Amino acid sequence: MALININLKSGTVEKQNDIIVGIDLGTTNSLVAYINDGQPVCVTDATGKNTLVPSVLHFNTEGGVLVGDAAKEKLITDPQNTIYSVKRLMGKSYKDVSGFENYFGYTIIDAPDEESLVKIRVGDKFYTPVELSSFILKELKTRIETTLGQPIAKAVITVPAYFNDSQRQATRDAGKLAGLDVLRIVNEPTAAALAYGLNTERGETVAVFDLGGGTFDISILQIQDGIFEVLSTHGDTFLGGDDFDRAIIDFWLQQNNISNELIFKDKEFGQAIRLGAEKAKKALSDELGIRNYELRIGQYMFQITKAEFERLISPLVERTIDSCKKALADAKLQTADIQAVVMVGGSTRVPLVKERVAAFFGKPVYDNINPDEVVALGAAIQADVLAGNQRDVLLIDITPLSLGIETVGGLMDVIIARNSKIPTKAARQYTTSVDGQKNLKVAVYQGERDLVQHNRKLGEFVLRGIPPMPAGLPKIDIAFYLDADGILRVKAKELRSNVEQEVTMKSSYGLSEEEMALMLIDSIQNAESDMKARALLEARNEANNVILAAEKFIVQNAAILSEEEIEETKSLTKQLRKTVIGDDKDAINAAMADLNVYTEPLAHRALDANIMTAMKGKQVV
Ligand code: AMP
Repeated sequence: MALININLKSGTVEKQNDIIVGIDLGTTNSLVAYINDGQPVCVTDATGKNTLVPSVLHFNTEGGVLVGDAAKEKLITDPQNTIYSVKRLMGKSYKDVSGFENYFGYTIIDAPDEESLVKIRVGDKFYTPVELSSFILKELKTRIETTLGQPIAKAVITVPAYFNDSQRQATRDAGKLAGLDVLRIVNEPTAAALAYGLNTERGETVAVFDLGGGTFDISILQIQDGIFEVLSTHGDTFLGGDDFDRAIIDFWLQQNNISNELIFKDKEFGQAIRLGAEKAKKALSDELGIRNYELRIGQYMFQITKAEFERLISPLVERTIDSCKKALADAKLQTADIQAVVMVGGSTRVPLVKERVAAFFGKPVYDNINPDEVVALGAAIQADVLAGNQRDVLLIDITPLSLGIETVGGLMDVIIARNSKIPTKAARQYTTSVDGQKNLKVAVYQGERDLVQHNRKLGEFVLRGIPPMPAGLPKIDIAFYLDADGILRVKAKELRSNVEQEVTMKSSYGLSEEEMALMLIDSIQNAESDMKARALLEARNEANNVILAAEKFIVQNAAILSEEEIEETKSLTKQLRKTVIGDDKDAINAAMADLNVYTEPLAHRALDANIMTAMKGKQVV
C-alpha cells in the first residue's frame, strides 16, 4: 500500500524520504538517532564507536565554537570559555539559579533586557542558553547529515518530564535556531518506555529510573492505548555519577593523606585523579567482575576494592530510593503496582544501583538497551511515527481548541480545555433530565464559545439502553481520550448498569491554523454576549427542573396538602413557566425564588409524613 503523508496542520505533503530524527539533548551528553531499516540507531562520530556528544562548548578568542569531545578537553585548560550543563539554565531566570553560581565555572549574568532570563558571558559576548543549546543541536544535525548524506530539517527533542512550559519553549526555540523544525517535544521517560516497546494495549504502569552524570529523575508513567501519562516525578538535580567519582577521590585523598587543595593547586594531578576515579568506577562496575582497582599517579599509589566502592556510594543510592518512595506516594501507588522498571543514564550501569532498584521494586529491571542511548532511540521511534512510517498523523502536541459536549439548552460543557497537552484524557459525570430516560445523545463540539451552535460539531452518538430510572439517578461517565495525533475517542458509560458506547472522531481534521485563530478571536469578541446567553440558559434549565419537581410534588403528596396549598403551588408554577418562555433571566430567578420559598415548608411537612409512614408497621425491639 502506498502511503502519502499529509501534514494536516500545514497542509503539505511530506516526502517519503523526509527523515525526522530523534534528539536527546542532555545535561552531560547529547545524541541523535534515526530509524534505519526499521530499527532505531544512534549516529556515531567518525571513529564509528562513540555515539555521545558531550554537551560542552568552547569559544576561542576569534569567536569560533567547538562542541563535544574537543570542547570537553578545554574544561580544565580554559574553564572561563568552556560552557557545560547549559540544560540546567534553559528557561531560567537569574533568580532561579542564584545560589548555584559557583556550580558553573563560567559567568552567568542577569539580563535586564529580556524579562530577567539568564545569559552567559564569554569574553565580551553574551549568549542565551537557547543560543548555546542551538550550537549543540547544530553539531548533532551536522553529524547525522554527514552520516546520511542528506539534509535534515525536522526533529523530535526530548526534555525531562518536569520541564515547565518556558523550558519546553526554550528547547523548541533552540531547535529552530539550529535550523530544525521541532515537531514534538517528548518527555525523556516516555521516550525510554517507547524504546522498550512498553506502549502495549493492555496498559502498563512504568517506573523510569534515570541516573546520569549530574542529575537523577524518577518518573512514574501510566501507559494506556498509546497515551503516556506522567503520574508523578521526583528527583535530585544535583545527584549522579559525578558524585560517585567525588566519593572515590575523597577516599583516595584520605588514603594517602593528601589535602583537598592539591587538586586545585596542581591542575595536572587534579585532572589525573578525576579521570582515574571515573575509570575505577567503570572498571568496578564492569560485568567482568573486577574486585580491586589500582592506580599510580606520580609518587602516589591509589587503590579501591568493589566492596569499598559500594560502601562509599551506598548513601547516595539510598537517596535515589527515597525519591522513588516519594514518587510512588505522589502517584498513590505501591511497588507492586509497577509492572516495569526502566533504567536510563550511564550511572545505572553500576551493579549496586541496579540491585537496589530491583530489590526496592521487587522485580528485575529493564536494562538491555544501552542506558546512554535509550532516550534518543525512543525519540527516533516517536519521530518515525510522526514521519508517517508507522501511522499517518496530525502533528500537534497541544490541543488548539477546547473539546466538550452539548448539555441541556445548547450549552457547551468543556471536557478538555484548549492548550491541554496531548495525549490527554478527561472525564465528567452527567445524568438524565427526564424520568425513565432510556437514551442519551452525546454531541461533541470543538471551540471556545459558550453555546454549541457557535462551535464546530465533530459528531454525535446516542448511548442507548439506559435502564429506566428516575431523572437524576443514572450516572453517566463521559470520557474523552485525545491521543498524540489529535484523534479523539469519546466513551459514554452508565455506571449503574455498565451500558456503554464509544466513538472515534478526528478533532482538528480539516481546520487550518487561520480557521482556528478565527474561532478563538470569535470567542473573545463574543465573550460578553455569550456570558449573558449562558446565564439565561442556565436559569431556564434550573427553572424547568424546579417546575418538574413541583408538579411531581403535588401529585405525590396530595394527601397531606390542603386545597389552598395545591392551588397556590400550581399558580406559582404557572407564573414561573410564563417567565421561562421570555428572555428575562432576573424574572425567571425571581419567580423561581417565589415558588421555592412557598413550597419549602410544605416539603418539610411531606418529609415528616413520609418518615412516619415508613416507621409504621416496623417494630422497634
Ligand atoms: P549520562 O549523563 O547519562 O551520560 O551518564 C553519565 C554518567 O554515567 C557519568 O557519571 C559516567 O561516569 C557514568 N558511566 C558511564 N559508563 C559507566 C559505567 N560503565 N559504569 C559506571 N558508570 C558509568
